[in-house]
Amino acid sequence: GREQKVEANILLLGAENVGKSALTVRFLTRRFIGEYGDIESIYSHSDKIDGREICFNIWDSLCPQNGEDAGHISDRHLEWTDGFILVYSICDRASFNVVRRQVQCIRQAKSKLSAPVIIVGNKRDLQHRRAVSSEEGRLLALSADCGFFEISAAETYHGVLVVFHELLDLIRETRTPK
Ligand code: GDP
Repeated sequence: GREQKVEANILLLGAENVGKSALTVRFLTRRFIGEYGDIESIYSHSDKIDGREICFNIWDSLCPQNGEDAGHISDRHLEWTDGFILVYSICDRASFNVVRRQVQCIRQAKSKLSAPVIIVGNKRDLQHRRAVSSEEGRLLALSADCGFFEISAAETYHGVLVVFHELLDLIRETRTPK
């Protein structure tokens, strides 16, 4: 019979300049575009995956980076979201710390204790400037029951695609009645 259309609300988080917009644009257009505006926005993108119509709503968001509120995610964002992509740059230790706090914030929210989260170390092409080891990323993900990938939004479409598809699979699992 006809399968129902699936909607997935995905919140993209992380520090500034880690490549959140690059990742979004790569996913939506398969292209890498170097610079974008700073406007916070929700993008909708429909795709057919395994014969089923999927609508991704992607919220590329700006959350507090500094001060007491750093890493805090508002209730409005938390409520809207089915799954999270937390992005840091492998060349930027501070951005990794932002992701660490954001993971904590998500796992402390009652409704999101077991929500699907994928941690992404972006800019893998900049190995010579690496400041965060793969191991550290993997351990953080393991400790909070998150997925983990290192990718380069600049270099390849495939890695970005895998991140979104993996998150979609996890979201669909949470919706399957047990
Ligand atoms: P945002 O602030 O997190 O949305 O970051 P942007 O997507 O605007 O990217 C910040 C900067 O990093 C831009 O100059 C991008 O061109 C660059 N950038 C994004 N992804 C990559 C990547 O995978 N590798 C490299 N070398 N640069 C990247």
